[in-house]
Amino acid sequence: MQHLKLSDAERKILLSPQNILKQELTIKRDDGSSVTFPAFRVQYNNARGPYKGGIRFHPLADEEEVKALAALMAVKTAVAGIPFGGAKGGVQCDPKTLSKRELQEVSRAYVRAFADHLGPDIDCPAPDVNTTPESMAWMRDEYEKIKNTYAPAMITGKPLSFGGSCGRDKATARGGFFILRDYLLGHQLEPKNLTVAVQGFGNAGAHMAHFLQEAGCTVVAVSDSRGGMYSPKGLNIQRIEKAKEQTGRIVGEYCEADVCHTERMKRDGIEFISNEQLLELSCDILVPAALDNVIHEGNAANIKAKIILELANGPITPEADAILDPKNIIVIPDVLANAGGVTVSYFEWVQGRSGEQWTDAEVDALLERFMLDATRDVRAAAERERVSLRRAAFLVGVQKMMETMRVRGWISN
Ligand code: NAD
Repeated sequence: MQHLKLSDAERKILLSPQNILKQELTIKRDDGSSVTFPAFRVQYNNARGPYKGGIRFHPLADEEEVKALAALMAVKTAVAGIPFGGAKGGVQCDPKTLSKRELQEVSRAYVRAFADHLGPDIDCPAPDVNTTPESMAWMRDEYEKIKNTYAPAMITGKPLSFGGSCGRDKATARGGFFILRDYLLGHQLEPKNLTVAVQGFGNAGAHMAHFLQEAGCTVVAVSDSRGGMYSPKGLNIQRIEKAKEQTGRIVGEYCEADVCHTERMKRDGIEFISNEQLLELSCDILVPAALDNVIHEGNAANIKAKIILELANGPITPEADAILDPKNIIVIPDVLANAGGVTVSYFEWVQGRSGEQWTDAEVDALLERFMLDATRDVRAAAERERVSLRRAAFLVGVQKMMETMRVRGWISN
């Protein structure tokens, strides 16, 4: 921020969310009992367009986390050059303990709680951790019922059959892949000579592992919340995707319930590792694609990867950043690296408003253009100001927010 030379008033407006909305969601459980979950929507800044940001269902989702993620969204939409502000939502619940019907209840209750603050021109949510296209469909339907209207653009990340966009499911990973590929090309690094570890095998991580393997990289490790799999010769990502699809677990090919066929794993050259071990593996590229704050003061010194692509939001704490920087580890920051998701959400919003349906190839080509434009701006700022890519991305994003806030008279010229 010191590179921007902000006044106290400007700093204050940038560091404060515009609206913090809180509600309690009460739903009926399948056994007839009732349960209540705290729910949040933080609308951080809408100078550049309607608030935009995902909704996560997670036991650790709280006001502070949602606030921090909403601020990141405001910067991210600016870095990506799309006409949105920033917001985030969360419900403090454990989706693993809820049935599909109960999850539907939570999704619809969330929209009922915040409906007057949502809408295509006001605030458009999207999926995040533990929310899916199906959750977005329930939310859109609930909103349309409440408002007695047709509003496909009130939410993004919907299923293709209910107003979604081609390419949205893969967009976060695809965008990160375009940015990483551009970096590798620029540094004459051949994918076939590079090893990769990916933490998190959900929407962002699984697609990323797939794209990197397709590009020729050796994906040596992947993980989910229960732990990871490691093979120095490289894992077969398609097989792991299939096992996850069929059993819900990445190790599904080798384990049934708590029993794992270790001899079969050994034969295939695979060993179990913990999520902590995955982060500290010797590899060229580390992709944190699960939760925030996983690389912190306590483990940053042990990180051996040369490049970290932040597909998750906020996976590296500021203290860890200060340790990684002098080690010359290149960090491609979240506000750039995972901006592909919100960028295709913007394409979905445009299609929802215009009634158009773009093809996969059209979405892919436009996403690549947006990602490479954003990368070029961030790299130019990093070179000009001699700062890390993270600082440069914040400089670019905050500068764009300030320009609009000046036009609107929120801050003085
Ligand atoms: P997801 O729910 O589809 O997948 C999350 C994955 O992380 C799962 O494999 C889960 O098992 C794993 N996980 C959960 N807790 C873990 C832990 N303690 N250790 C290791 N792994 C754990 O979520 P997603 O949509 O892929 O999001 C992942 C990250 O990417 C989040 O930080 C999210 O904010 C960010 N992100 C997602 C999108 C998107 O479009 N999906 C866009 C931008 C950023």
